[in-house]
Amino acid sequence: MQNRNLELLKNYHLKATPQRIEILKAIDSLGHANIDEIYEIAKKRHSTMSLATVYKNVTALLEKNLLKEVALNNFKSKYEITKKTHAHLVCKECGAVEDIDLNSNIYEESKALTKDKEFNFDDLELNIYGICKKCKTK
Ligand SMILES: [Zn+2]
Ligand SMILES: [Zn+2]
Repeated sequence: MQNRNLELLKNYHLKATPQRIEILKAIDSLGHANIDEIYEIAKKRHSTMSLATVYKNVTALLEKNLLKEVALNNFKSKYEITKKTHAHLVCKECGAVEDIDLNSNIYEESKALTKDKEFNFDDLELNIYGICKKCKTK
């Protein structure tokens, strides 16, 4: 895992600092994580890690598109390592985020919808809100 994150930073021409490695590891372990969650995990391994350091590095990784922000209604944004376009299942109770494959028709349809709008389609972000399995059985 260590090597994978090192490689990732290298691919994006980013300096591989120990802080960045820990931040990526934390995000990797959760799939999607907000700043507080990243901080909680990262500081266990890297005791000098501050919340400000997490913020600063997450911002830098976002700028380079290594990370992607998942903006959520009623919950703090989460961050994930950039991968191919997919949708999210978001739990309204606990804020859990799960990846779900995006049917390519939805993507093409969105593109088609924007055609008459003199709008350059770039990307599609889709959050599907509901109640997750864990909260449902509570
Ligand atoms: Zn839930
Ligand atoms: Zn995702």
